[in-house]
Amino acid sequence: DRINIAIDGPAGAGKSTIARRVAERLSYVYVDTGAMYRAATWYFGQRGIEPEDEEKLLQMLPDLVIELIPEPDGQRVVINGQDATDEIRSIKVNAKVSRYAQVEGLRSRLVALQRQMALRKGVVMDGRDIGTTVLPDAEVKVFMTASVEERARRRFNEMKEQDQITMEQLIQDMARRDRLDQERKISPLRQAEDAVLLDTTNLNLEEVVNVIISMCRS
Ligand code: C5P
Repeated sequence: DRINIAIDGPAGAGKSTIARRVAERLSYVYVDTGAMYRAATWYFGQRGIEPEDEEKLLQMLPDLVIELIPEPDGQRVVINGQDATDEIRSIKVNAKVSRYAQVEGLRSRLVALQRQMALRKGVVMDGRDIGTTVLPDAEVKVFMTASVEERARRRFNEMKEQDQITMEQLIQDMARRDRLDQERKISPLRQAEDAVLLDTTNLNLEEVVNVIISMCRS
């Protein structure tokens, strides 16, 4: 029987790479919820709407259409018909996303979409609040961590603007984002009580994938 798998943890813990591989192995659907918050950040940023301008933001929210299109080596993110796959990983979006992610009306809209995607089971979803809030009934829950240096190294390798940022800046940016995510009032980054803690600092990709797959069989 198909199940749902929730993977949470701080930035750069390797969630998306692992979640995508697990989904591939099980022929499940991978849902990258961080990409949805990034898409919203890019969309409102383009239109000059700050997260503090909640009224205006919520007024425009119904117009925002996010498509996550699976591809062999990742996913394409299309926002109102425009490909923004690279833009949503930019330094600018990194700097702002955790502020937009605090807007209650935006969260409830994205959470509703995420729950809809998981209705028929067979979903691997990664984020910050999946095990606690989005899919509290997920059959398998993992809270993934790694040392901050390892996380920065992994994030750096994903970035297109590598010449514009140092490892030191990236570590600082990640620490700041983690703090905002942990301290926000609505569904903060937290390990669900029934989630399994997985420290991936010294594990390779295949090892982590295998651990999660074995959790699904038990
Ligand atoms: O996973 P990723 O680093 O792409 O997420 C970007 C940001 O989106 C996070 O730092 C967090 O502020 C927000 N986010 C969230 N809830 C999720 C996924 C992401 O608040 N489920």
